[in-house]
Amino acid sequence: MQLIPTIIQNANTGQVLMLGYTNDEAIEKTRETGLVHFYSRSRNCLWLKGETSGNTLEFVSSRIDCDSDTLLYLAIPAGPTCHTGNISCFDATEVSFDFFTNFARYINQKSTHARPGSYTVKLLEGSKSYLMRKLVEESAEVSEAFIESQANLVDEVADLMYHLTVLMQRADISYTDVYATLQTRTTGDGGKTDPRPVPR
Ligand code: AMP
Ligand code: ZN
Ligand code: ZN
Ligand code: ZN
Repeated sequence: MQLIPTIIQNANTGQVLMLGYTNDEAIEKTRETGLVHFYSRSRNCLWLKGETSGNTLEFVSSRIDCDSDTLLYLAIPAGPTCHTGNISCFDATEVSFDFFTNFARYINQKSTHARPGSYTVKLLEGSKSYLMRKLVEESAEVSEAFIESQANLVDEVADLMYHLTVLMQRADISYTDVYATLQTRTTGDGGKTDPRPVPR
């Protein structure tokens, strides 16, 4: 029986959560149930991750590495993935490598460590119509830069994304919410793919 090292990565944050081993049966079960299954080398049996702890891993998608001997699963954890209670087997804390999540956190920190006259605070705490006006203004600037010059397009895209992220913060929408919505649109099945490795 061939065991394939399978890396589990949080589908939303990119954090590496654990390494397990899968075989044909585990891959089949994962596909059937939508929950990540491994083959336990210590107990010599099929293992539903979370069967006793409840900390299951909702399967999202899989990839095979360059030489087809390692799998990568993107999954959404129901709780801490490590049996020690840590979020990840490799680190105790939750981290985000996702640019958008970090960007949103950056804006959040700006508002909690407010500097007098801070522009971000003004956008966050001023009238909604003020924020909307700025957002529309920045969209127009992106459009101008794109159609006419291209010269300051990066600046204008940055401005637009910044204002949009502030709006999301005010509306209590996360990039995770947006990403989840986009995924349901692209495939119609929540972005799920077959966990079976591509044959060599
Ligand atoms: P669980 O599958 O989360 O219900 O855990 C069942 C048992 O599997 C635990 O008592 C551990 O011995 C083992 N286990 C759970 N999670 C991990 C992990 N991330 N890495 C290694 N072993 C684990
Ligand atoms: Zn490899
Ligand atoms: Zn662990
Ligand atoms: Zn601008």
